[in-house]
Amino acid sequence: MTEPLQTGAVIGILGGGQLGRMLSVAASRLGLRCHIYEPGAAPAGDVAWRVTQAGYDDAAALAAFAQSVDVVTYEFENIPTAALDLIEAIRPIRPGREALRISQDRLTEKDFLTGLGLTCAPYRAVDTLDDLRAAIAALGCPAILKTRRLGYDGKGQVRITDPAQAAEAFAAMAGAPAILEGFVTFDREVSVIAARGLDGRVAAYDPGENVHDAGILRTTTVPATLTARQRQDAVLLAGRVLNALDYVGVMGVELFVTAQGQSGGLIVNEIAPRVHNSGHWTQQGCVVDQFEQHIRAVAGWPLGDGARFADVVMENLIGDDMDRVADIARDPNAALHLYGKAEAKPGRKMGHVNRIVPRV
Ligand code: AMP
Repeated sequence: MTEPLQTGAVIGILGGGQLGRMLSVAASRLGLRCHIYEPGAAPAGDVAWRVTQAGYDDAAALAAFAQSVDVVTYEFENIPTAALDLIEAIRPIRPGREALRISQDRLTEKDFLTGLGLTCAPYRAVDTLDDLRAAIAALGCPAILKTRRLGYDGKGQVRITDPAQAAEAFAAMAGAPAILEGFVTFDREVSVIAARGLDGRVAAYDPGENVHDAGILRTTTVPATLTARQRQDAVLLAGRVLNALDYVGVMGVELFVTAQGQSGGLIVNEIAPRVHNSGHWTQQGCVVDQFEQHIRAVAGWPLGDGARFADVVMENLIGDDMDRVADIARDPNAALHLYGKAEAKPGRKMGHVNRIVPRV
């Protein structure tokens, strides 16, 4: 299927969280419909054409879902392989399987990125306690032990500051394959949100500067503090990743910025083959935001160009940040985006706010 999707066509989205919700809103603005597949509660369901609530092991539900749509995309990367196999036999999946395979496993991902000539934190595979001891000896402390699969928002990670902590850190992985990463002393964290269309055209947004707290993104600020050279290099680097994967859709590329070294100061932390929390600022900063851009790409439409017309600070509203919503709503320069989640648990992303400073 290479023809652009027409009015009324259906995009299937695996995952019904806030990213699926905002994708669904963007699709509906283009006259397209979304069918959400989600095993649990689905904030995306409120704004979607259809919702299937079923598990990723429910072959009949997956097949019926795939039959009902024109193309399938996803809002998270940890989708079971068997479910993807089943869907792919029926409808195209965009972005493609290779991007998922690589980003599902931190070791495969780092091998891929370094294979492209990009710089990552030094790393070693860790399957046994002996591996970990050898990796600590090679990389030194501090270092971070991470599960290879299923980690997000800093989960599945242990910081090691002393080799004596090896056994305890290894036990925390609960038998899961892991990697040890050398600790990067970065000046700041930035990310590039970039997209590639079905025709191979690449469009990137201006890099945003990210501040995390306890592994969770708190704010993204554009413009990021970067040299002109770094800004250009960051965008080019993202384009290289997209082209290498023959990618279709939006990707988030997270980078550490260090004092200039051989890598020009840009070290790739990880890639996310989907719309990304650090790209939410584009909703108020760009003509075509990351959600519409992703929908355009998977629907075979031309991409927007990513130009930015405002400075923006995006702040995530997490847990009891929701208590501030009434105040934020009074601020004329604050655009509120709430996800419709019932319960504001600690650490749960409930919404975000984009505060804009128009460029004159
Ligand atoms: P991750 O889940 O791998 O993106 O890690 C979450 C956050 O932990 C990152 O955004 C960084 O703030 C921090 N972090 C992860 N890996 C490293 C590293 N190798 N060196 C320094 N900080 C790191």
